Parts: sequence; structure tokens; C-alpha cells
Amino acid sequence: MTRPIAAGAIRHGRHYPDGMSTERQPLTSPECVFCRIVAGEVPATIVAADDEAVAFRDAHPQAPLHVLVVPRDHHADVAQLAAADPTLLAAVIRLANEVAEAEAGGQFRLIFNTGVASGQSVFHAHGHVIGGQRLGWSPA
Ligand code: AMP
Repeated sequence: MTRPIAAGAIRHGRHYPDGMSTERQPLTSPECVFCRIVAGEVPATIVAADDEAVAFRDAHPQAPLHVLVVPRDHHADVAQLAAADPTLLAAVIRLANEVAEAEAGGQFRLIFNTGVASGQSVFHAHGHVIGGQRLGWSPA
């Protein structure tokens, strides 16, 4: 089964007519740093991964636990991910919980910055898994 291609993304690998794909075709964007981490082209400290998502340590951690969980497929932000592939969003949240179970007793904050005004700087959907300490509440 083929899947829709997000704006700005390309489909790698052999293309088959609808219904003839023999393997999963990831959506990637060649200039996207998180796509390149998923592909193993940019180094990162990967802490968990499955068929749908990859978790790696944030380069500039803001808490004892600060891991980013990204879908393997490229979607610009969590809203676009939710619209295009809600099952994949659920997989991202599941992997975030696995990381938090392993590193923070299953207690965590999951932040999806969405849009420049929110502070989003990398336009590949990602959840920040924050924890490992008592967290304050000061988003501004
Ligand atoms: P956001 O500002 O919500 O888009 O979050 C992007 C996050 O990605 C920031 O917290 C950065 O520190 C982090 N980041 C950017 N590039 C890398 C990288 N190559 N490896 C790990 N974390 C990164």
C-alpha cells in the first residue's frame, strides 16, 4: 500500500504502482537533520528505536532526561503528522513512554513545539521527552 507524500518530502527507493509496493517506503526530506539522523548519516546518541520511530538525546539537554522522539517518516510538525498518520503519532508517544519508563520511572513531559512562535527550530515532527527531576511550569 502506498502512502501520501508530505509537501517537501520525497519517496526514496523503487517506486511501484499503487498496490505493488513490496516494502515500506519511508518519507524523507534530504535537507532535514532528523531525517539524516534516522538514516544514520548524522551522528546522534540513540537510546531507543523501532520500526516507526527513533529516540535520541537532545544535543542541548534542558533536564536530566531530554530525549527527542521522531517518526522515521518526515512530517513537518506534529499537527501534520496527526493529520497524515495518527497511528504513527501513537507510535511516537509509545516510544517516548518506553524511554521514560527506562530512565525516569515513567514520569515525563512530552512537548511538541509547533511553529516558529512556539520555538520550533527543526521542521521534522519531534517530541521532547523531558524528565528526571521535579519539573516547574513556566513555558514563557
Ligand atoms: P525544537 O526547537 O522544538 O524544534 O527542538 C529542536 C531540538 O533539536 C533542540 O532542542 C535542539 O537542541 C535539538 N537538536 C538539533 N539538532 C540536533 C542534533 N543533531 N542532535 C540532537 N539534537 C539536536
